[in-house]
Amino acid sequence: MKQSQLFTKTRKEAPADEVAKNASLLIRAGFIHKEMAGVYSYLPLGLRVLNKIALIIREEMNALGGQEVQLSSLQNKDVWQKTGRWDEEKVTNWFKTEITGGKETRLGFTHEEPLTAIMAGQISSYKDLPKYVYQIQTKFRNEERAKSGMLRGREFLMKDLYSFSKDQKEHDQFYEKVAKAYEKIFQRVGIGAQTHKTFASGGVFSEFSHEFQTVTEAGEDTIFICEKDGTAVNREVFTDEVLSKMGKNKSDFQEFKAIEVGNIFSLGTRFSEPLGLFFKDDKGEDRPVIMGSYGMGLGRLMGTVAEILSDEKGLLWPKEISPFSVHLISIGAEENPEVKKQADKIYEKLEEKSVEVLYDDREARAGEKFADSDLMGIPTRVVLSEKNIKEGRVEVKGRTEKTPKYMTEDELFGSRF
Ligand code: ATP
Ligand code: MG
Repeated sequence: MKQSQLFTKTRKEAPADEVAKNASLLIRAGFIHKEMAGVYSYLPLGLRVLNKIALIIREEMNALGGQEVQLSSLQNKDVWQKTGRWDEEKVTNWFKTEITGGKETRLGFTHEEPLTAIMAGQISSYKDLPKYVYQIQTKFRNEERAKSGMLRGREFLMKDLYSFSKDQKEHDQFYEKVAKAYEKIFQRVGIGAQTHKTFASGGVFSEFSHEFQTVTEAGEDTIFICEKDGTAVNREVFTDEVLSKMGKNKSDFQEFKAIEVGNIFSLGTRFSEPLGLFFKDDKGEDRPVIMGSYGMGLGRLMGTVAEILSDEKGLLWPKEISPFSVHLISIGAEENPEVKKQADKIYEKLEEKSVEVLYDDREARAGEKFADSDLMGIPTRVVLSEKNIKEGRVEVKGRTEKTPKYMTEDELFGSRF
């Protein structure tokens, strides 16, 4: 893509009311637009990152045997009343609206109820199980505070996976597979080293649930990590009782701020029973399906990467989710037509090789182009100037490297980005 065609511009300052580093950087670099507190739109560069995150998640969910769906945002009161979660004393962050004529409806903040109701119409025998269903879909939550930028949206994209199993053993095996898949996703988006699987409170059906917590000062959560073996627990379960069962003391742990980037939950029959999701086992007896739910926020993930993989100059995208692989920059092309000719040629050749290139072909000063490039954070920068052409080379620099390397054009085309 030619940068002269890109409609977004970088800016020196984020909106004055934006206090979170992640959203400030993403707004300044032109990746997102702040509509209002907790509500952001994705612009072309941000959408490319989001789509790459979604692709990674889809690959890992499909590898687990997940089948993708897209459920509605508008929710049916009758379905939710069966579990009690329409009750505003139980769920306080519903976004409410009504259908013309007065019938009440609301915007989904999660989808256990509607999906369980759908499955009740599809599953009847043990032969239909297990099944795994997921979506990447917009959730609405009337969050009280939305000061953490992309980390806490009032409208946000979530990947939510639900599992439907015959018995606890089948459920437990899948639960462990999901935990592994989550670890892979966090590795691939570049936050694997900072992300810990933590014990969290489990509710009624299992002793613990698990959260995936990425350590950073910007996090809203507090976790405790054991210095000896890396065991991590969240604040809710950091009690003497739980720790003694693990054979540990509070003094074994260190406290950290962290972002909950995902969580996995055993639901037992909490939803299947009230919504009538039963199956006939091999003896012909009716039994409730054992369920699990597995969430992950895509915007929160993107915000987490922006928050922790950035420096004073801007963003630092890991290769797999960078909007482009190469930022090609021409310097002085207005004065020297040879620079433009060579840069155009390199752009076309890289595109032919399916390298994703953002080509800064704008008429702008070198300093401005470099500052924008650092802010956008594409991992590799290729610079073409009159001097480089004379010396028969191109200048190649990694975003975090201090000094460039020099290559011939052939070496450049032979490189992997
Ligand atoms: P939190 O404790 O941070 O409010 P939660 O425990 O309510 O989140 P879930 O309902 O389990 O979260 O949602 C699953 C995943 O969706 C979370 O792990 C997180 O990645 C993401 N998520 C939840 N709430 C938000 C939000 N307001 N904005 C962005 N992502 C969110
Ligand atoms: Mg939570």
